[in-house]
Amino acid sequence: MTKSEGATVDVAVVGAGPAGLIAGLAMAEVGFKTAIIGPPADPRDGRTAALFQASVALLKRLGAWLLVAPSTEPLDAIRLIDATGALFRAPEVTFHAREIGEEAFGYNVPNAVLTAALEQLAASRVRRIVTPAVTAIAPGPESVTLTIAEGETLDCRLVAAADGRQSPSRDAAGITPKRWSYDQGAVVCTFEHTRPHNRISTEFHRRCGPLTVVPAPGNASNLVWVDTLSEAERLAALDDAAFITELGRHLQGLLGQVTLRSPRRMFPLSGQTAEPMAQNRIALIGEAGHVIPPIGAQGLNLSFRDAATLADVAAAARDAGEDIGGAKAMAHYSAARRFDVTSRIWTVDLLNRSLLSDYAPVHLLRGLGLFALSTLPPLRRRIMREGIAPPQSTPKLMQPTA
Ligand SMILES: Cc1cc2nc3c(=O)[nH]c(=O)nc-3n(C[C@H](O)[C@H](O)[C@H](O)COP(=O)(O)OP(=O)(O)OC[C@H]3O[C@@H](n4cnc5c(N)ncnc54)[C@H](O)[C@@H]3O)c2cc1C
Repeated sequence: MTKSEGATVDVAVVGAGPAGLIAGLAMAEVGFKTAIIGPPADPRDGRTAALFQASVALLKRLGAWLLVAPSTEPLDAIRLIDATGALFRAPEVTFHAREIGEEAFGYNVPNAVLTAALEQLAASRVRRIVTPAVTAIAPGPESVTLTIAEGETLDCRLVAAADGRQSPSRDAAGITPKRWSYDQGAVVCTFEHTRPHNRISTEFHRRCGPLTVVPAPGNASNLVWVDTLSEAERLAALDDAAFITELGRHLQGLLGQVTLRSPRRMFPLSGQTAEPMAQNRIALIGEAGHVIPPIGAQGLNLSFRDAATLADVAAAARDAGEDIGGAKAMAHYSAARRFDVTSRIWTVDLLNRSLLSDYAPVHLLRGLGLFALSTLPPLRRRIMREGIAPPQSTPKLMQPTA
C-alpha cells in the first residue's frame, strides 16, 4: 500500500515491545484510531516484571489481566536483607502489603506471557502492522509521515515512540538522551527450590549490587543478581552446577536446595533519561524515554504510567478541540512525566551507589535509614505507597475499577 487517504490514523505507536503494545491499547481504549508498528517481541524473553497494583489495574481495564493472571504470582511482602558485611549491619526489614491495606504489592508477570496477551488484544483493537522496522519518520506541521521497511507510508497526528533505548523515533523528534553506564551487570534466570517463597520477594543488599529473588508460581523464583560487570560475566559463563553452588551460598539457605529451570542471561546495567519527553508530535514511551537499572522493579511500571498518561493528555486535547500532537499537548505530556521518571531514576541510582560506596558513613546512613523503616510504621507506610504508586495523580486508565 502506498500513501493514501486510507493510510491515516490518529496515533501511530512505533515498537511492539511491552511498552508499545500497552500504549497502543491505551490509545485505542480512549477512542483513537491507532496503529502499532514493529516486529513482535521476542517470545524467548525469559525475564519477568514485578508489576505493581496500578499497572495491574491498567491490564484489568484493557481486558488483559484474565489472559496473564494464571501465569503470575502475587507479591505479598518485600524483604530486605543486609549482606554488605558493613560494620554497621542494617536490620532485616520486611514490608507487608497488608500494612497499607493491599493483599499484594503487585504480581510477578513473565514478559513473554504479557506481550502474547497484548498482541492477542491488539489484533482486534488496533491496526497492527508487523514489519521489521519503521525506516523513516518525518514530522511536519500538521502530521507525521512514517515509512516502513516494505516501503509503505502512514500518516498520523501523534507518534508514541516505544522503539526501545536506541529509539530512531526519538532522533526524529530531535531529542538527545543523556546516557550513563554502571560497571555492573544483572544475571537473570528462573530457578526452583525446595522451600516455599511464601510470596515474599527478597533483596540481599550486597556491596556489588542487590541480589533479588522474585516469587514465581509453585516453588520457583526469578533471579535478578546484580554484580560487577566482570563478576556478572563470570557467573553467566559458569556451568549450571557451579552456578547453583554459588547461588545457594548467596541465598544463605533461605529457599533450600535450588535447581535451574531456565538458561541464564546477562544484562549490562545502564541509565538514560530524555528531556523533553515529547516534541514535534513524537512522545516517548518506555525505554525510549528512560532506562533504569533492574533494581526495585520500576522500569515497566514507569512505562505503563507513560502510556496511561499519554492517553489522558491526548484525550483531554481532543475533548477540548485541540491538536493531539500539537506543542501544547506535547509540553503537557512532558511535564506530567518529568517528576515520576526523574525521581525513580535518581532513587534507584542513589540506592545502588550507596551499596557500592567504600565510605563508612554512607553505610551508617543506609543502616540508620533501614532501622527507621523497621521501627517507624508511618514512615514504612509512606515508603511502601510511594514505591508502588504514581507520585502525582493516577492516570484515569490506572485507577482501580470497582
Ligand atoms: C533484568 C531486567 C529485569 C527487569 N525487571 C523489571 C521488573 O521487575 N519490573 C519492571 O517494571 N521492569 C523491569 N525491567 C524493565 C523492563 O523489562 C523494560 O522496561 C521493558 O522490557 C522495556 O520495554 P520497552 O517496550 O520499552 O522496550 P523493548 O522491549 O526494547 O521494545 C522496543 C521494541 O521496539 C522495536 N523497535 C526498535 N526499533 C524499531 C523501529 N525502527 N521500528 C519499529 N520497531 C522498532 C524493537 O524491535 C522492540 O520490539 C527489567 C529489565 C531488565 C533488564
